[in-house]
Amino acid sequence: MDPAWLLLLLPTAAFSGWVAAQRKPNNTRGNSKKLPEAYFKGLSFLLNEEPDKALQVFLQVVEIDKETVEMHTALGNLFRRRGEVERATRIHQSLVARTDLDQSLRTMALFELAQDYFKAGLFDRAENLFHELNQVDEYREPASRFLLQIYDQEKEWRNAISVAEDLQRISNQNLSVSIAQYYCELAEKAITEGSLDEASKYLRLAFKSNSHCVRAVIQSGRISSMLGNHTNAIAIWRGLEHWAPDALGEVVSHIANSYEALDDHKSFLLFLENALEKNPDPRIISTLVEAVKKQRGELEGQAVFLKLVRKYPNLESLCQLLGTANGSNTGSEVSNDLTIVASLISQVVKKEREYHCRQCGFNSHSVHWQCPGCKGWGTVQKTLSHRTDHGQQLDLAP
Ligand SMILES: [Zn+2]
Repeated sequence: MDPAWLLLLLPTAAFSGWVAAQRKPNNTRGNSKKLPEAYFKGLSFLLNEEPDKALQVFLQVVEIDKETVEMHTALGNLFRRRGEVERATRIHQSLVARTDLDQSLRTMALFELAQDYFKAGLFDRAENLFHELNQVDEYREPASRFLLQIYDQEKEWRNAISVAEDLQRISNQNLSVSIAQYYCELAEKAITEGSLDEASKYLRLAFKSNSHCVRAVIQSGRISSMLGNHTNAIAIWRGLEHWAPDALGEVVSHIANSYEALDDHKSFLLFLENALEKNPDPRIISTLVEAVKKQRGELEGQAVFLKLVRKYPNLESLCQLLGTANGSNTGSEVSNDLTIVASLISQVVKKEREYHCRQCGFNSHSVHWQCPGCKGWGTVQKTLSHRTDHGQQLDLAP
């Protein structure tokens, strides 16, 4: 028999004790509880492997006292944890529907039922119940945590901000990183809709919540560049050099576009050299090589590339280097060998995950503001696996 059902057999076990007590000559019948015969009917269904019929019978006979209600609630929890949400819901619904239930027991059952709805993905029903529970001091914090999960999953960012701020007050938990990300989500939507003033307003609130929000910096720069203020955009993005150099790879293409718009190639090259000293991201390396090629020609670009690969060795650049060498030996035996080596390294590069969640260990190739694994905000970070030789000066002078 399923171990979960043993919980429901507790009253039957109690009955055995009761029978024994009845047989004692000096039994005081006034202290005994009468156990409904339906428990035996339920037990019979259980023994015949008809669990749902048994459950129906047990629910009909539940005696309204604290012990029995807690036992049925625990059974419902067990079903929910095992993924049998429908059974859990039936148990908790039947308790909540009882009009003769003590208020605190009804609230307890209501909290369990709300979790059943949440687990089943019935967010509207769960939200209503968690709001009701949010008014009860004892359940305010756990109900708020579930509401936050619902608004997060449903992308209802304004509600998520409101609940997160409330949760910060009642639990002393710091949710400033998540709140800033919710504002960034609102800003992103506003940017997409062309409402740049509104987006800027949300970003100010994001910074107010988390002054070191990288995503808000990236978005602020984007808004400035969209408004044609490229000098300001570059200044915003370059702020990352000082306190978040790991994030420079995320903005290097934006910075390239803005320097291009300003036609200031000299400053751009200086920025890239400086950025590489702090973060030898392959994206910055390839941007620098392309910039040199554009300014000084293909040969000089290749020479700079070789210097960079020596100074900042990484598999991606090595793969690119092999591709270039292969191009100049087309058709030869060397070319075939280089093709094989480049292909092998390329496979290793593809397997390499450059981003890592510090909370759950999720790995990915691209940045995620919300971890797809644990749903944590701002927990995915760039993994810096490239060795930097700071002792060697990079000389890009023509
Ligand atoms: Zn994670």
